[in-house]
Amino acid sequence: MTDQPLLKVTNLKKYFPIKGGILGRPVGEVKAVDDVSFDVFEGEVLGIVGESGCGKSTTGKALLRLIEPTAGGVHFQGKDITTLGTDEMRKVRRDMQIIFQDPYASLNPRHNIGKILSEPLLVHGLAEKKERTEKVHEILRIVGLPPEAADRYPHQFSGGQRQRIGIARALIVRPKLIICDEPVSALDVSIQSQILNLMEDLQEEFGLTYVFIAHDLSVVKHISDRIAVMYLGKIVELADRDDLYDRPLHPYTESLMSAVPEPDPDVKKERIVLEGDVPSPSDPPPGCPFHNRCPYVMDVCREKVPALEAVHVNHYAACHLHTEEGGDADASINHLKGEKA
Ligand code: SF4
Repeated sequence: MTDQPLLKVTNLKKYFPIKGGILGRPVGEVKAVDDVSFDVFEGEVLGIVGESGCGKSTTGKALLRLIEPTAGGVHFQGKDITTLGTDEMRKVRRDMQIIFQDPYASLNPRHNIGKILSEPLLVHGLAEKKERTEKVHEILRIVGLPPEAADRYPHQFSGGQRQRIGIARALIVRPKLIICDEPVSALDVSIQSQILNLMEDLQEEFGLTYVFIAHDLSVVKHISDRIAVMYLGKIVELADRDDLYDRPLHPYTESLMSAVPEPDPDVKKERIVLEGDVPSPSDPPPGCPFHNRCPYVMDVCREKVPALEAVHVNHYAACHLHTEEGGDADASINHLKGEKA
C-alpha cells in the first residue's frame, strides 16, 4: 500500500427528495448518505457494513456516480470525479468497476455470456473482434468457468456461476478498484465461501483494491483489511479489522459483533439485542442517530451529534462515550471507553 489513497471520499451526501401534494413539490428529504468521509488505499479491502437501509449500497453507487451525489467529493487517483463530463467519466469507469448483489438482474438475459463479457471491451475500445473472443475465454478461465460458457445464456447458470460471470465482467477491463455491492448476500453459505476465496485470489493476482459492502459482519471480516460501520447514513466507526473485532468502540458495532456466531463452541458470548427500530432517514433523531436504541445513552447524546474522531491510532468512532461530553458516563461502560489517540 502507498501513502496516497487511491480513493478519497470527502463529506459525501446523497439526499433523495420526498415529494408530496397534488403538485408533487418537495416536502422533505431522505438522507441516505449523510456526510461520509473515508480513504481507500491501493491494494487494500475496505469493508462497509451495516443493516439494510443504512446507506452502504447508496454510498457504493455514488462512488461510481451510478447515483449522482448530492454533495461531497470523490477523488480517484487524485482527481475529483464528481465534476467530470460523460466522456471523461466513461474513461474513469474502466478503472472503477462494480459487482452487484444480484448478478441475474444485472446480466442481460437475451445476450449470451460471450456478448456480455465482450461489451466492456467494446465500450472502452480495448480489443479487436478476434482478440475479444480470446480475452473472454481467458477471463472465463480465470473465474473458474469453461470457454464453452461463452455460448450460453445467464439462465443456464447457477447463482454462484452467475456471480463468477459478474466478477468476470468487472475484471475483463483490468480495473484498479472494484466496488463489491453485497456480492455474496444472495448466495448459499457453501457457495459464499467459494466466491469470497475467488475474490481474494483475484485481488492478490491482479493487485486489486476493493470496497466491499455487506450486511454480514462475518463475510466482511473474512475479506477486509479495514472496516467502516454505517448507521443511518453515517459512518459510526472505522478501524483495522482486528482492532474493530477485538475492541469495538461504538455501542452499535458492539451489538453487531455480539450477533456474529462464535466458531469455538466453548466460547460463550452475550448477545446484545437492540431495542427499538432504526429511525427513518427522512426523520433522523436529533443528536446521536443511535440514541433511541443505545443501552449507554446519556443526556448529551440526545442533543449533540458526535463527530467521527480518532480514539486510538487508526481507530475512529462517533460516540460521546469517547468525547469530553461523555465524561459522566457510568463505570459499567468502561470497556467501551478508550485512551485518546
Ligand atoms: Fe450511545 Fe451516546 Fe454513543 Fe450515541 S453517542 S452511541 S447514544 S453513547
